[in-house]
Amino acid sequence: MYHRFDAVIVGAGGAGLMAAAQIADNANVAVISKLYPSRSHTGAAQGGIAAALGNQEEDNWVWHMFDTVKGGDYLVDQDAAEVLAREAIDAVYDLEHMGLPFNRTEDGRIDQRRFGGHTRNFGEAAVRRSCYAADRTGHMILQTLYQQGIKHQVSFFNEVMMLDLLLTDDYVCTGVVGMDILTGEIHVFHAKAVLLATGGFGKVFKVTSNALTLTGDGCAIAFRRGLPLEDMECYQFHPTGIYKLGILLSEACRGEGGILRNDLGERFMERYSPTLLDLAPRDIVSRSIYLEIQEGRGIGGKDYIHLDLTHLPPETVETKLPDIADFVRTYMGLDPVKDLIPIQPTAHYGMGGIPTDVEGRVIVDEHKTVLPGLYAAGECACVSVHGANRLGTNSLVDLVVFGRRAGRHMLQFVRENDIQPMPQEPDFRARAEVARFLENDGHENAADIRVELQEAMMSKAGMFRNGDDLMELEGIIEDLRNRFSHVGVRDKGKTFNMDLVETIETGFLLDIAQAIAVSALAREESRGAHVRDDFPERDDVNWLKHTLAYRTSGGLQLRYKPVALGRFEPKERKY
Ligand SMILES: Cc1cc2nc3c(=O)[nH]c(=O)nc-3n(C[C@H](O)[C@H](O)[C@H](O)COP(=O)(O)OP(=O)(O)OC[C@H]3O[C@@H](n4cnc5c(N)ncnc54)[C@H](O)[C@@H]3O)c2cc1C
Repeated sequence: MYHRFDAVIVGAGGAGLMAAAQIADNANVAVISKLYPSRSHTGAAQGGIAAALGNQEEDNWVWHMFDTVKGGDYLVDQDAAEVLAREAIDAVYDLEHMGLPFNRTEDGRIDQRRFGGHTRNFGEAAVRRSCYAADRTGHMILQTLYQQGIKHQVSFFNEVMMLDLLLTDDYVCTGVVGMDILTGEIHVFHAKAVLLATGGFGKVFKVTSNALTLTGDGCAIAFRRGLPLEDMECYQFHPTGIYKLGILLSEACRGEGGILRNDLGERFMERYSPTLLDLAPRDIVSRSIYLEIQEGRGIGGKDYIHLDLTHLPPETVETKLPDIADFVRTYMGLDPVKDLIPIQPTAHYGMGGIPTDVEGRVIVDEHKTVLPGLYAAGECACVSVHGANRLGTNSLVDLVVFGRRAGRHMLQFVRENDIQPMPQEPDFRARAEVARFLENDGHENAADIRVELQEAMMSKAGMFRNGDDLMELEGIIEDLRNRFSHVGVRDKGKTFNMDLVETIETGFLLDIAQAIAVSALAREESRGAHVRDDFPERDDVNWLKHTLAYRTSGGLQLRYKPVALGRFEPKERKY
């Protein structure tokens, strides 16, 4: 089936919906989403959204920018971080005016709480900067923005999965190809401009906070089409996932006063981060947990430690962290008001992704060359505001600030440009891929390959890496890719064929894994979330630069581009 729109947005999370809201009344826009919009992962975000409103104590967007740059271990593009911190304030008010029910202070302003790495006066002390709606901030953002989409009559194509991106021979984007999951039918969307807002890829790791569907589709499709992926080696592990399950217990637990304790009951963060303690940035807290475990102070000598909320007033737990309290009761059979909670770090957030400029335009090389008509925003993009380590609450603000910018720029673009002809047989590749899986005899099974991949990524490209492991991992991935070429699906049906959907997703994960492994092996230093046992120091002389990974016919090629420095000189990080 053929459709024609001015703008097509792939992804109905916070980034995609914020962009759609900018375009809706002025041009015809479609939002394509493989999930029903309100099931997007943005809806699972708990803790909050950062903006230097200063509602609780003095704050300043420059301090927010500084924290973001330092938190990212200086691999942050400072022009982008400035946009993020400055525009966060207005973007949060924008959400408020759309009707988002934030928690309130006694005098009726948006309430704010502490989060890791957010400080006052360039690192002096923690500051309350995270605006929140209990521990359901993302849910409220998603509902608010989806309602805006309905109100402005956006054309939603729900449960339609993008399979391919349409580019002309001279690299202009002309649309996307998708599959309706309900019917198996292939749809071609012809457009002047496309925004990729397909979210993260945490499912490349075994223990993760990410939903089943976060398989990096947009990143992998762009990568297959010859576009680079930036800084894929920088992947964040969140300190507090429920032990073994990986389900997230938001940093808001510590923002509200929760404490991490080892087997001796010690508040061990005193040793690693004397100023910010449990609210140090995530890379530091996750590593500290791991070191405690390694030195035998995990609980009962095992590989977890405790999150302690028992000293908090019970009403704080019940009213400000209600969903988290519920998770602990449901999944662990524990009462967070009385019991210590077993936690371990969990794979959480990809700092890397599709390179863009601050308008959301996709960049194809180290010379900032723009690909006309193609945009990216949200977790699948890398503008780079998070550098080598994202601060908590800085993703939701990234979605609304850069989703809004991308949407506005797209509107201008569709006004100024004519629609370009599509390539011949635009759906050829997508049809061929689907046919291959349906027709293969299937002596290999995608589910097995996915599990093996997740285990290998967790053990060899997780929180601690080294050259030998990464080289071995490259071999494992290559082998899994070979096996994947023999995969067939057992369900040959057309209606809601999740066997087919998950097989296609596994193919995306293999691409993502390869980009991570190759980029991580090359980066011979430790910076932010990327930690190499064999290169334990940060190396600004050789590695203060962004990785760009390209898929080529012979494998993978790496190129590099400089970091946009500015106001803040790289320094040693102390908290
Ligand atoms: C449990 C959890 C808690 C978090 N808490 C916070 C927090 O408190 N504060 C914070 O700042 N950040 C938080 N984060 C991070 C933040 O929520 C995410 O980074 C962010 O929501 C991603 O938004 P997005 O719009 O980029 O993508 P998502 O919200 O993940 O949406 C992706 C969209 O893309 C669509 N899609 C994907 N692939 C395809 C395809 N092939 N075809 C069509 N559509 C496709 C999906 O249907 C979906 O609509 C949290 C993350 C998790 C997992």
